Amino acid sequence: MRKKLIAANWKMYKTPEQTGEFFRDFLPLVSGHDRDEIVVCPPDIDLATALSAAKGSSVAIGAQNVHWKAEGAFTGETSTAMLLALGVTHVIVGHSERRQYFCESDDTVNLRLKTALEAGLIAICCVGEVLEEREAGLTDDVLRRQCVRAFHAISAKKAAKLVVAYEPVWAIGTGKTATPELAAEAHAVIRSEATEVFGEAFASQLRILYGGSVKPENASSLMAQEEIDGALVGGASLDPKSFAAILKY
Ligand code: PEP
Repeated sequence: MRKKLIAANWKMYKTPEQTGEFFRDFLPLVSGHDRDEIVVCPPDIDLATALSAAKGSSVAIGAQNVHWKAEGAFTGETSTAMLLALGVTHVIVGHSERRQYFCESDDTVNLRLKTALEAGLIAICCVGEVLEEREAGLTDDVLRRQCVRAFHAISAKKAAKLVVAYEPVWAIGTGKTATPELAAEAHAVIRSEATEVFGEAFASQLRILYGGSVKPENASSLMAQEEIDGALVGGASLDPKSFAAILKY
C-alpha cells in the first residue's frame, strides 16, 4: 500500500504573516488526519514561519527548489544544508514553471534531484508534457525522456525518497484537469520507466502524484485511481478551507 502524499505548492504567494494565518486556520481542519502525508511548500521566505506554525502537527514543510552545490556564489539559490538546518523535509524539483521561465533543463533537474535525495530530502520531481506535445502524440516520449534524464546516475538505494509528480503543463493553473483515466495512463508510463531504471521492486513502491488544477470538486475522482498516489496542488492550496476540502476526498 502506497500512502498518498498531498502537497501544496504555494508558488510565489503569501508573506510570513499570511503564512501564519493560513496555518492558524488550516491545522484545526486537518487535526488527526493521518491517512495521507500532508506537505506545504511555501516560498523560502516563509519556511521558518511555516515550520514553527506546523510544529507538533502532522503537516510537513517542503521547499520549492534546491541547488546542487553545497555553497558558493549562486545568487538567489538555496542549498540542501540550509533547508535541513531549518527542519525542511521535502522539496519540489523540476516544476514546469522552473523549466518554462527559469531555463531549468533536464540536466539541472537531474543535478537538483540527485543532490536532494543524497541529502535525505523527500524530493518531488515534476514531469509533464505541454499541449503541443500532447496534440502531436508525444506525451509518452516526453515523459520517458524527462524521467530517464532526471533519474540519470541515481541508484535505487539513493532514490528511496523519490516521489514523481505528473503535471501536464496544459492543466497547470488553467482550470483544465486531465481526466482520471488519462492521468492514470501517464502514471503507468512513468512507472514503467521507473521499472526500467530502478527495477520492479522499487517502481512498485514509487509514489506518483497528479498535479494540474486539482480542486475539492475533482479530488475524489482523481484519488480513486489506483495509479494516482496523491496530488500536487497549486492554486487551490492557498486557501486553508479549499486545501482541507481536497484532503477530504
Ligand atoms: C502546481 O503548481 O504544481 C499546480 C498543479 O498548480 P494548479 O493546481 O494551480 O494547477
